Amino acid sequence: MRYYSTNNPEHKVSLEEAVVKGLASDQGLYMPEKIPSLSKELIEQFSEMSFQEIGYRVMGALFSEDLTEKQIRDLVDHTLVFDAPIVEVEEGVYSLELFHGPTLAFKDFGARFCSKLMSLLLTDSEKKVRVLVATSGDTGSAVANGFLGVKGVEVIILFPKGKVSELQEKQFTTLGQNITALEVDGVFDDCQRMVKQAFLDEELNQSLLLTSANSINIARWIPQALYYFYAYSRLPKNGKKSAFAVPSGNFGNIAAGILAQKMGLPIDHFVAATNVNKVVPEFLNGESFKAMPSIATISNSMDVGNPSNFPRLLALYDNSEELLKSHVTGYYYSDEETKKVMQEVKTKGYTLDPHGAVGYLGLKNFMKNYPDYQGVFLETAHPGKFRDVVEETLDEKVVLPERLEAFMVGVKKSEPLANDYSAFKDFLKSLED
Ligand SMILES: *Cc1c(COP(=O)(O)O)cnc(C)c1O
Repeated sequence: MRYYSTNNPEHKVSLEEAVVKGLASDQGLYMPEKIPSLSKELIEQFSEMSFQEIGYRVMGALFSEDLTEKQIRDLVDHTLVFDAPIVEVEEGVYSLELFHGPTLAFKDFGARFCSKLMSLLLTDSEKKVRVLVATSGDTGSAVANGFLGVKGVEVIILFPKGKVSELQEKQFTTLGQNITALEVDGVFDDCQRMVKQAFLDEELNQSLLLTSANSINIARWIPQALYYFYAYSRLPKNGKKSAFAVPSGNFGNIAAGILAQKMGLPIDHFVAATNVNKVVPEFLNGESFKAMPSIATISNSMDVGNPSNFPRLLALYDNSEELLKSHVTGYYYSDEETKKVMQEVKTKGYTLDPHGAVGYLGLKNFMKNYPDYQGVFLETAHPGKFRDVVEETLDEKVVLPERLEAFMVGVKKSEPLANDYSAFKDFLKSLED
């Protein structure tokens, strides 16, 4: 399989190059040149299969030209070491719980797959690989934990000073080993801009093998399609149409759902739900796409003013804005609305985190207009990951799972970095081997 750049369909590269480069040299995102489709019969059989068995079939369809069957099984087995159950919150409304991984957020799926795929593809490489990551919180923790101790790979994480919760910060600043955290005097978009600039810097790339593990990397992005297949297979077979609502920031997660749909998964509609960083919902509602500076909210992992996966959404719908708008509905919500719905749903016996709450709101909004649907919203993080907001909103203690508690005792180690590309470049040059 070859992968093309969303900025130029003629620019095609191998799987290895797409994974190592992350972003194409023309700044486009890589996309598989053919999207394989799974038969209706096979997708029906998924309801009898385990998550892993579904994983072998779905990833096999995408990667069998490039990887052996054993490698595909290893990848899936390494990734799917925790479950992603659907839980009925009220009649016809399901929470797809993606937070049962090591850092309690859905990014564990992509991060685990990505580290394993890189180690499979780069085993013969003599150069040390440097993974650069910009994070607003959860990417950093998932990537750091996914790559911790992986030989020949060094991870450098840029995060905005004072914009990440203490618990999130602990999960990537306390690990040591091959993980370095740089605390940037700026916002998330500044971190992302510096990382992008480093990938395009010819001088740096001559001496260092730089790669990305942000959701722009296909190795992070593609495996997220897996849990859409799994969730769909566990929904009741009652003839109802189904909608999936995805709380979105960089729009990689929802784009993976649309990839699953393109592979034949019969999802009827998608809802893109955001906080007040509303560039995409506004676009879907008829305005032109206009990147904005990001605004801080209580669902801070979605505080993205210029969503990097947007070109993928368009590419998946053959670059037709009209098709995209007819398949995806966008809504956005304030922090007040988010808190209110967290309280409401709590009375039904379910605790939402602020991100899942935004997804739930979007789903309910859609289902008000389309009562013949059943719906799934993606619960992207454990409420304990956003303990301060959740406890304050619900006025009760959230019990932290043990593996989160363990991070809290670690000591933060990070280096300050000015909000200035040349400072970042100097840091990287100091690493040259
Ligand atoms: C990253 C993240 C999101 C946003 O996902 P995208 O793929 O960037 O749209 C939503 N919720 C949580 C908890 C996250 O960490």
